[in-house]
Amino acid sequence: MSIRNIIIEPDIILRKKSEPLHQVNNDTQKLLDDMLKTMYAAPGIGLAAVQIGILKRIIVIDISKKEEKKNPIFLINPEITYQSKETSTYEEGCLSLPGHFAEIERPAKCKINYINYHGKKAELEAEGLLSTCVQHEIDHLNGILFIDYLSKLKKDMIIKKLKKQKKELDKAIL
Ligand code: ZN
Repeated sequence: MSIRNIIIEPDIILRKKSEPLHQVNNDTQKLLDDMLKTMYAAPGIGLAAVQIGILKRIIVIDISKKEEKKNPIFLINPEITYQSKETSTYEEGCLSLPGHFAEIERPAKCKINYINYHGKKAELEAEGLLSTCVQHEIDHLNGILFIDYLSKLKKDMIIKKLKKQKKELDKAIL
């Protein structure tokens, strides 16, 4: 397993739509393992393949707390089949938007169909933080970031700051 580089906004790839995966094989499982390792190392509670530059509809999630046993969820080709009218609001962050957080309102419950780590069809009912996390990650597969739900002013301000952070990072690497 290896840790991959996480792509930081602004980057055109984060705005692209990811393609469905046709077959789960050893390479897929290796990618899922790498994604999980990358997410734990960051640390984060969710990661979509596009965030490491791979435009496939693949997500890893683990919302277990530090002291709890790890509980990774691997979602391949997830499709939302139900979203509740009732909403909930969480302060969201994103590994592609380091240091930035905002309160985002989303459906409090959702159901999804997906393919699991072993290539089998599965169903997930999510509520609370897991529901928010699943929807945040599925947004990534469609080129959507949480800042897209903010006002243009707030969104532009965050992107400007991230651009500046990136420039400073480049300088440090040189
Ligand atoms: Zn994210």
